[in-house]
This record gives sequence, structure tokens and C-alpha cells, in this order.
Amino acid sequence: MQNEIKEVLISKEQIDQKCQEIGKQLTEEYDNKFPLAIGVLKGALPFMSDVCRHIETHIEMDFMDVSSYGNEMRSSGEVKIVKDLNTQVEGRDLLIIEDIIDSGLTLRYLVDLFKYRKARSIKIVTLLDKPAGRTADIKADLVGFEVPNEFVVGYGLDYQEKYRNLPYIGILKPEVYGG
Ligand code: 5GP
Ligand code: MG
Ligand code: MG
Repeated sequence: MQNEIKEVLISKEQIDQKCQEIGKQLTEEYDNKFPLAIGVLKGALPFMSDVCRHIETHIEMDFMDVSSYGNEMRSSGEVKIVKDLNTQVEGRDLLIIEDIIDSGLTLRYLVDLFKYRKARSIKIVTLLDKPAGRTADIKADLVGFEVPNEFVVGYGLDYQEKYRNLPYIGILKPEVYGG
């Protein structure tokens, strides 16, 4: 697996450090508010798991699985709910946890959905932001790292369902896409 990676963009140590920083900020932000942290499956799983262990106040966790029609490297913006929340969001403070914002279409859809369901507040934290890919009007409240306009894998992010278990963020060798 490791020999299929061309370059490590963000190391495990950098990610660990960032999760600590973000956890600290979220602790201050949500102290005594009991927010609902919503992880967007599957990509946000490692980030949510790590960052939540640095939040030192009560939170509730739930998950949403959405799939967007499009090819596997780019979302189309037509979002289908594969797994909805088990929790009512009306009147709740929501913290959406994402792996990466590219076009922003997935998050635009989710934010609109949660507004419609009458959430009290909605914030977005994303490990990665790819501003060059943006087509929807959406901005994260907290961003771990900005990445260039390249397809990245690892730490939750997949290519054809592989590489999610890499402990770092990297770029694949071009020949991997061929095979
Ligand atoms: P968006 O709707 O913002 O375009 O992106 C939604 C989803 O597309 C992300 O949550 C992620 O699953 C996928 N995606 C976008 N950019 C990348 C990337 O560089 N690498 C991988 N593996 N997935 C990406
Ligand atoms: Mg995602
Ligand atoms: Mg994917």
C-alpha cells in the first residue's frame, strides 16, 4: 500500500497536532452546550474519532451517510441520503465534521437540510479544504489544512474504497489510476 503513494502531503504528526488544537477550540466553543457532532461517513471517521477525544466537554455523536452521483473523484451535487441521523436536530447546536470540502456541494445540501429541520446553529469543521474546487457557496468555520487542487487519499479519504486506513494524507502515483 505505502509504495503506491507518490508523496506524503500531511504527516500523522501534523494531523495529531491539528486535532489537539481543533479539539481545544471546540471545547471552548461548545462548553455546556451539548452539541450534536455529525460525522459524514465514511471519510470523516478517523478525523471525528481523533478530534472528539480532544473535546473536553459533553457532546452527542451521530452519523450521516450521503452519496453523491458523479464519478468517484468528483461529486455532482445531487446528493442521496444513504443513512440519515437517528437524532432530532430541531433546536440543537450542530457541528458537522467532514474530511474534505472540494466543490462544497455535499455540505451545501446538508446545511440546507439541517436548516430546514430547524437546527439552532450549524458549524462546520473540516480536516481539509480544497478552495480551488469550490462551486457552491459554503465555508467551513474551522479548517485543519488547505490542500492544493489534487486528489488526495488517506486518513479516511479513499480511492475506490482503498487507502482510508493510511495514517497520513498523500497523493497516489499516477499509475495507480491506470490499473
Ligand atoms: P464536495 O461535495 O465538497 O465536492 O466533496 C464531497 C466529497 O467528495 C468529500 O467528502 C470526499 O468524499 C470527496 N472528495 C473530494 N475531494 C477529494 C479528494 O481529493 N480525495 C478524495 N479521496 N475524496 C475527495
Ligand atoms: Mg466527506
Ligand atoms: Mg470517496
